[in-house]
Amino acid sequence: MQLLGLHHVTAIASDARRNVEFYTRALGLRLIKKTVNFDDPSTYHLYYGDHVGTPGSVLTFFPWAGLRRGLPGTGQAYATSFSVSADALPFWEQRLRSHGVALKPIITRFGESVLTFTDTDGLILELVATASPDPRTPWTHPEISQAHGIRGFHGVTLALTDAARTRALLTASMGYREIAAEGTRTRFTVGDGAPGTFIDLLVDPSLPRGLQGGGTVHHVAFRTSDDAAQAVALNEVRALGLHASPVMDRNYFHSIYYREPEGILFEIATDTPGFTIDEPVESLGGKLMLPPQYEPQRAEIEANLPKLG
Ligand code: ZN
Repeated sequence: MQLLGLHHVTAIASDARRNVEFYTRALGLRLIKKTVNFDDPSTYHLYYGDHVGTPGSVLTFFPWAGLRRGLPGTGQAYATSFSVSADALPFWEQRLRSHGVALKPIITRFGESVLTFTDTDGLILELVATASPDPRTPWTHPEISQAHGIRGFHGVTLALTDAARTRALLTASMGYREIAAEGTRTRFTVGDGAPGTFIDLLVDPSLPRGLQGGGTVHHVAFRTSDDAAQAVALNEVRALGLHASPVMDRNYFHSIYYREPEGILFEIATDTPGFTIDEPVESLGGKLMLPPQYEPQRAEIEANLPKLG
């Protein structure tokens, strides 16, 4: 199969309004789509990204009000990292502190500086000061210069008790190649190997078994160009004996889902048609967008969703 890197990461939140405030105000991402969970229209599905929601920039949330906090740990996508410029971390330290975000001390990983913190639900996030070129343009925020803004994903860390089977899936079937190892962490990339493609496998015996809930990742989606490439991937996943979903129409992309051998939910999503299919680029995220099957229930759905402020 031909994968191009990360498409999106979907995580679980507890409070929709706090979630919007954190990602749009503190991190300066664009709310690019306000819709509902297609499998549970009583819940929002909120998408954040760059100005058009370019694949590889998109972090999405299911905010379930009052949901109990999960526990980040093994068997999960443990940390989601974003790419910023090589000199951006002092700016972000100051900015995040001013928003009341607790920061871990900056560490060096594979030669790059990494600033780790959590969102308001405890989701583990990292800003990686990327030495390699990353031409992606951040969304414009009045307090964040283009030089400092978030340019999209850097990568995702999967925490595992044993990496062997996941490594085999990534390298033998999903087209990934191992590029570096450091301590308990091994890095893989695919395609052009630029920021937005990295998957780190972390085997750290001190980590607890992860528990899904608020502040944990629900699934990791990989990019494929179009429906034809996705059909090839679906055949290959099924040939491995993994149970894969049929192709699901997610309106903005088409998706297949399967669990990798350690239980982490993977998705393969198409780059097309994209987030401008139902809203013009200048007003993305402005209105609640519903897929056709829920449009007749719009009044009821809107009345049940919390106000976002
Ligand atoms: Zn998804």
